[in-house]
Amino acid sequence: MLDRELLLDNISGAKASVRSPALTHVMYMDDVVLFSRATRNDASILSRCLDRYIAGLVGSPTWRAIGEAKKLIVKGACFLLGDGSSIDVWSDPWVHGIVDFRPQPRVDEYKKIVIKASDLIDSSTRSWIREWVNVLFTPADATAILSIPIPYNPKQDRLIWFPDSKGRFSVKSVHKVAFTSPKRDSQPQAFWLKLWKAKFPKSLKMLIWRIGVNAIPTKENLQLRLPYIDPSCSLCNEPMETCTHIFFECPFAKALWAAACWGLRVDPPSIITLANITKFIMEPPASSILAQDQWTVSLNMALVIDEIWRSRNLKQFYNVKADVLSAKQNIHSKFLEIVKAFTPVMSTPMEHISYRWNPPPQGWIKLNVDAALNNHRSAFAVVAQDQLGEALSLWGKIHLACPLAQAETEAFYWAVKLANQRGVEECNL
Ligand SMILES: [Zn+2]
Repeated sequence: MLDRELLLDNISGAKASVRSPALTHVMYMDDVVLFSRATRNDASILSRCLDRYIAGLVGSPTWRAIGEAKKLIVKGACFLLGDGSSIDVWSDPWVHGIVDFRPQPRVDEYKKIVIKASDLIDSSTRSWIREWVNVLFTPADATAILSIPIPYNPKQDRLIWFPDSKGRFSVKSVHKVAFTSPKRDSQPQAFWLKLWKAKFPKSLKMLIWRIGVNAIPTKENLQLRLPYIDPSCSLCNEPMETCTHIFFECPFAKALWAAACWGLRVDPPSIITLANITKFIMEPPASSILAQDQWTVSLNMALVIDEIWRSRNLKQFYNVKADVLSAKQNIHSKFLEIVKAFTPVMSTPMEHISYRWNPPPQGWIKLNVDAALNNHRSAFAVVAQDQLGEALSLWGKIHLACPLAQAETEAFYWAVKLANQRGVEECNL
């Protein structure tokens, strides 16, 4: 649709250089960037294309979510008055502090008159023409208009995202708009509040939000829009790549949850709706976690989700094989980096293990294994404990320097050999 509008010269797109072809859009992984001139004409044609596109996708949850998002954006966008020449006083949002930012006429017939905001400004004194404002609008709306400051030096009108005090678009402000709608009678659920208050990087919050509202391009969602697409899982070829499958049921996801999230086993049937995924991350099972550390647990879980999606995209778009060990390492280093950025005192997932040590069954031995390394060498440690938590043996060993993933693997291998040499028949690692 966009290419057609470009061919018809209805929109201009953008050029990287004078001789390069004009671009109207770029699609990269799960992002689409649209290019146009910042004019009302180009913007209205883009909007029309998007409307047609969404209208053709009735029933798709992803695109329904996009449609809803568009309504939210319309609800939160408002003009910042410049010279007023591009603001239609009846149809554009431009008056802060009133419903929908659109003023109402004192008499309905006035709406038939095309009036620009600039028509209400005395250009010699840079002030409102009070008589006209008071005649045209309801008293309350006229008061709101007269309180809008007029820039002394005329500049272009600017559409800004108004719910944020600096005009910046963010998950938090979108959520504020969504849940402060007078039509909505329910309060936002606590886990959504926790998401936008979480000490996460913005991109991570956005990903968890998109999953919770099913606005993420899994194959299932894409197939509703593009019927010819192969819907099988990018990582394991399961026939349908749903959100629940890719994040919880796929063998890679299961292995990563177990490896990078304290051996967590997720039960997909408990994820009844996709909002449950956000709830599951922001309100992890409390029994095993100290209250003050809950955010780090949520962070670790969100990073597992992020890494699964990243690995899936690398496989889908670059045919890079997903690797649990390197994915685990990525999560670990991102976790440390984010925790360090948000707290003066650093804690690591390893510290939580001590709070959650579970004894092995009667007659079994549990081997706790760890590896540490510096630039010159690595060190392994193995602790054997019985069902009462009594330490039966403690072994340590210095090894050559190697990558962390290799050191951990070798430590496990050494622990198994030790158990074998000492005739341990049943053990937990
Ligand atoms: Zn899969």
